Amino acid sequence: MSIAITSLHESDERQEHSHAIDQDAPPPERRNGDAAARRRVSDIQDDDDEPMPKRKKIRSSTSHLKIVPETLELRELVKAKAQQFAEKLDHSKPFNKTQLTAWSMQLLGEMSLPEKYSGFAAVMIGNFFWRRQFLATPFERRMLLLPHCLKHAEGCPAEYTEFGLDCERCGACTIADYKVRAEQLGYKVLVAEGSPIVLKIIVGGYVDAILGVACLNVLEKAIDKVLIAGVPSYAVPLHSGDCHNTSLDESWIWEVLDKYEPMPDQRLTGYVSVMRAANRLFDEHFDRLLPRVRSKTPEAAATPLGKTEDISYDWLRNGGKRFRPFITLAAYDAATGGSCLKNFDSSTQPFEFPDSVARVAMSIEAFHKASLVHDDIEDDDLFRYGRETLHRTHGLGPAINVGDHLIGLGYKLIAASRTQTSESGAHDHNAIPADVACDVLERMAAAHIKLCDGQGAEMFWQQNPTLDFTPLDALQIYALKTSPAFEAALYAGLRMAGSVEKYESLVGPFCRHVGIGFQILNDLKDWRGDHDNKMVAGQDALALRPTLMMSLAWQAANAEQRQLMQRCYFDREEEDTIRLARLRRLYEELGVFEKAERLIEKSRDRAELLADDVESDDIRQLLYFLVDTIMADEQDKDPRDSMPKPTSILIPLPVTTA
Ligand code: SF4
Repeated sequence: MSIAITSLHESDERQEHSHAIDQDAPPPERRNGDAAARRRVSDIQDDDDEPMPKRKKIRSSTSHLKIVPETLELRELVKAKAQQFAEKLDHSKPFNKTQLTAWSMQLLGEMSLPEKYSGFAAVMIGNFFWRRQFLATPFERRMLLLPHCLKHAEGCPAEYTEFGLDCERCGACTIADYKVRAEQLGYKVLVAEGSPIVLKIIVGGYVDAILGVACLNVLEKAIDKVLIAGVPSYAVPLHSGDCHNTSLDESWIWEVLDKYEPMPDQRLTGYVSVMRAANRLFDEHFDRLLPRVRSKTPEAAATPLGKTEDISYDWLRNGGKRFRPFITLAAYDAATGGSCLKNFDSSTQPFEFPDSVARVAMSIEAFHKASLVHDDIEDDDLFRYGRETLHRTHGLGPAINVGDHLIGLGYKLIAASRTQTSESGAHDHNAIPADVACDVLERMAAAHIKLCDGQGAEMFWQQNPTLDFTPLDALQIYALKTSPAFEAALYAGLRMAGSVEKYESLVGPFCRHVGIGFQILNDLKDWRGDHDNKMVAGQDALALRPTLMMSLAWQAANAEQRQLMQRCYFDREEEDTIRLARLRRLYEELGVFEKAERLIEKSRDRAELLADDVESDDIRQLLYFLVDTIMADEQDKDPRDSMPKPTSILIPLPVTTA
């Protein structure tokens, strides 16, 4: 028996979810073809006016393409040829991953080398494409990122901290050599592959260039992020992806580590400038854009009358990646010509958005944070953003009230962004027209209702849990719970830039695929635990959350396995660790983790196919970026590891123009 949530939603939406879980079905036909991706490599290189290539589907394993040339002689040869190749490329525009892959295949073709070296060749071309911008970045604005696997495995006395491995410079491995020299020069140094702190440091505006050492597996994942963040990077590949006994060409690090070659006019393009703008909304601009009313002073904030506002503002201002406000700002920027993206000049003032756009972006965060406060209460979660949840700190009633207060702030921010006539009759020309504010409000309200529908369906299921819960039911809940916030954020940015008529049919389905993929990824992460938020693995199963993985397991299980599932979920007399271990084993036997990963890939493919059809280069690139970022898996994908095993370095893509 399936839970009765079907009638809540449109039948075509359900049909689409049904198609999504048909794992053998091909993705829908492309409507306009994919001409740019099919163009010959030389066309891509020679034609400056051509739009950015679109993405090719379907993804396949690329491990056979990530071999590092076996001899130093061959590595040096590829490096030298990559330098010559990169010098001929147009450096005025950033490249994307599709172009870079095409270039590496072209280079290998010219050198009569096999495609197994294409990952290595791509890294070399990327390095030389942006080398000048990297070298023009002052040392104190650079970061050196080193992998853990370089450390002396047995004898290393260093401890792990929130910033990664805290090397004690015992001298047993080369990490100390690089760290000492780099810090003398002024670099920030992290031995922290995959640490979210890297992205925070970049977005926080502390670093403008990255020198990174990593294996090709990690660098391949980083390439999407390099495009995303727009920070000049130089990468030195490890000779193998094996985390033990690996080596590198050490001289390649020293070639760039202590070189500084300034350029007269260094411009950066890339999403990092928009990310930083989103960050500043909650930092330097926060008090101006959302002035306090009852908690203006610490004394007032400590009174019963000022406390709610104080806690609410603190919650809104701190914690989280500010990704939803970023989506709004980036969509607005892309739809208005991409001036932030293309013309960001690191040597002058940071790019700023109109206050009205900024306030709407902040409102999305206010609604999102409100939903998190209530969600934490409903699930009785212990931690959020690495600190205790509000209801644990302040009690249930005050926490519910703070959530409500945040919703009020969201409305207030949107209202404050619309055109208003002052007493003197003057208009604020930076404001958005009232009809645009209404449209944004309507979309926010719709998102809010969908979120409550999804959350409600989950809670009502929990009141009367049964494992007879179909994957289709799970996907519908996911689409309702996760996608609307992305949709509202994207829509708001596009709508404030002008008419959204041509994007109306895109925004909803695109965000649905992205949201579903994101939620399934979260389910997989739940089986790994989450050190950053102090969560242990398997919480969804213990809390009896109706997940896609539960439904996939039930669907695939035989009678005996179903009985075991029942015991794992409902037999509270058994220890949690034993129940979880059995469930994990059963999920492995039934291939649930693999099926979930395939569904993530399917969601990704479908979202990218929708993006392929978008005419505007700027908006299309943004949509690709959202897919890459929202569905970024920054941990080892093997859910059998009970603890997170970082394997992905957050080297941002070099996207700069001179
Ligand atoms: S030099 Fe640093 S990282 Fe290497 S073994 Fe010593 S403490 Fe560990």
